[in-house]
Amino acid sequence: MIDIKNLKKRFGDQIVLDGIDLTVGNGEVVAVIGPSGSGKSTLLRCLNLLEEPEEGMIQVGDIKINATSYTKKETYELRKQSAMVFQNYNLFKNKTVLENIAASLRITKKMSKTEAHQIAFGLLEQVGLTEKASAYPVTLSGGQQQRVGIARALAVNPTALLLDEPTSALDPELVSEVLQVIRSIAKKDTTMMIVTHELAFAREVADRVIFMADGHIIEQGRARDLFDHPKHERTKRFIKQIN
Ligand code: ATP
Ligand code: MG
Repeated sequence: MIDIKNLKKRFGDQIVLDGIDLTVGNGEVVAVIGPSGSGKSTLLRCLNLLEEPEEGMIQVGDIKINATSYTKKETYELRKQSAMVFQNYNLFKNKTVLENIAASLRITKKMSKTEAHQIAFGLLEQVGLTEKASAYPVTLSGGQQQRVGIARALAVNPTALLLDEPTSALDPELVSEVLQVIRSIAKKDTTMMIVTHELAFAREVADRVIFMADGHIIEQGRARDLFDHPKHERTKRFIKQIN
């Protein structure tokens, strides 16, 4: 479960998140859409405390933090609950695929190498990449690297998976293999927030779609309601433009 109350973030004098309230239920898949600069990435990054929010409350699983005062330990605990998948994979270049996944287990769960590698191998199976276990990231295609990124995020068994445009850096022919992996994870009742421009995909996997603009949630609802019958002018314009 994710619960966000009155979340505010500013960069200089620009207000990027202007009091976001949002609850994502257990197993719910929420797609976040909206124009460039609307605060989608900042919202996900605040949930992981990669950006420091200024005001508000964030809860992921059992960990609840107050934006105005939180400790290093709480930061660490929250990050274990909410794992992030980045647009540009952010894999360790000097580690093999298996080590990339095992690393987070060894750090966060203090596992032995053997145990971490065993679990990492199981995760590679889930994303269909066991044959690449000992390869280095540079030798993989973008789609394969992103599948490793997803396996790595899942390794810590997070309460929620946060994906920020996981397919937008990929060549078009590599998008579907990554979407297939995300689809299979969504089916396992993983709580997910996914920022995406793939409206067809959002329609298929998301239980709810959030439309953001200028640091606000303008409108939300089931994909077919929001895409086919948007209520707000802002949403109408955006959907028209992107289709
Ligand atoms: P996109 O669809 O292009 O990824 P977004 O909705 O993810 O856009 P954000 O990346 O959250 O938008 O950015 C929201 C606003 O905050 C933008 O105006 C951006 O320029 C600004 N911003 C984001 N990160 C920083 C930063 N580290 N320093 C200063 N301004 C920032
Ligand atoms: Mg973004």
